[in-house]
Amino acid sequence: MESTKAIPWRIDWATMRFTYIGPQIEELLGWSQASWLTVNDWAERIHEEDRQKTVEFCVAQSQKGVDHEADYRAITRQGHHVWIRDVVHVVRRPDGSVESLVGFMFDISARKEAEDKIVQLQRELELLSYRDSLTGVANRRMFDTVYPAEWVKARDSGHPLSLVIIDIDHFKQYNDHYGHVQGDECLRRVAHVLNAAAADPDELCARLGGEEFVLLLPGTDREAAWSKAERCRELLAAQEILHACSGVGRLVTVSMGIGTIVPGAQDDAKVFLDRIDRRLYQAKSAGRDRFCDNDA
Ligand code: GH3
Ligand code: MG
Ligand code: MG
Repeated sequence: MESTKAIPWRIDWATMRFTYIGPQIEELLGWSQASWLTVNDWAERIHEEDRQKTVEFCVAQSQKGVDHEADYRAITRQGHHVWIRDVVHVVRRPDGSVESLVGFMFDISARKEAEDKIVQLQRELELLSYRDSLTGVANRRMFDTVYPAEWVKARDSGHPLSLVIIDIDHFKQYNDHYGHVQGDECLRRVAHVLNAAAADPDELCARLGGEEFVLLLPGTDREAAWSKAERCRELLAAQEILHACSGVGRLVTVSMGIGTIVPGAQDDAKVFLDRIDRRLYQAKSAGRDRFCDNDA
């Protein structure tokens, strides 16, 4: 018993005192074997965030006479903590009354650490899979997730929802002239500017693909969407990204399709998105470096 990695113990139910605990407990937690006298010594050496629920759970199960196990952080004498799995068997007399509790404590710190690591990696992966790797802004997948949700929110609340679709003008020429590496850098700078323009927590800037971006602007009416688009153009102009063969001017410019809707029961999110996309192409054919916010 005393050589096993599991630390055995026994508590007398009537007195709530330890009648045995393995000496390995000292190596694990630093508290000497002799210092484990009552159930209170056990409870006091549980991390305070785990204490109440662990004690309540174990007491309730024991009173019911049900075998159980509990994971909790035990405090070491040095003030650190160790994750413990306590596996408890309730020993009953022939008449059914509880005589004692016997159990084993297992050190599960390594397993807990591995589990925490996995949870953290999953979170990171989730973040990465919703992020465009080139520009760092949200990706199409994120937009496809958030847009329908915002659509429903706008429909139910009666608040307006605005969309701005943004496409860099003559970006093919930019790539052809400056090369792909600088093309990528240009995309990053444009993304950064657009992301800065949509900085409110419920606003979203996403890269839809290629050199096309979208701003999703909940609670934004037509006028506010318009000034948001203006802001994007100002911020981009301030970047002064040279585009020697743009045909529009000497700097990188964008064209935008803008729209605002208070979605009604008959409206469709996809149809609205397509309408804004068509406005973007109207802005293109009208000469680029401009926005279009109507279907004329
Ligand atoms: P328009 O003004 O009509 O939008 O013309 P455009 O040249 O911008 O549009 P077009 O669709 O003809 O070309 C888009 C170009 O964007 C093609 C491709 O070389 C470039 N592109 C798309 N994705 C990336 C990328 O991730 N990195 C780089 N460097 N270029 C990209
Ligand atoms: Mg383009
Ligand atoms: Mg495009």
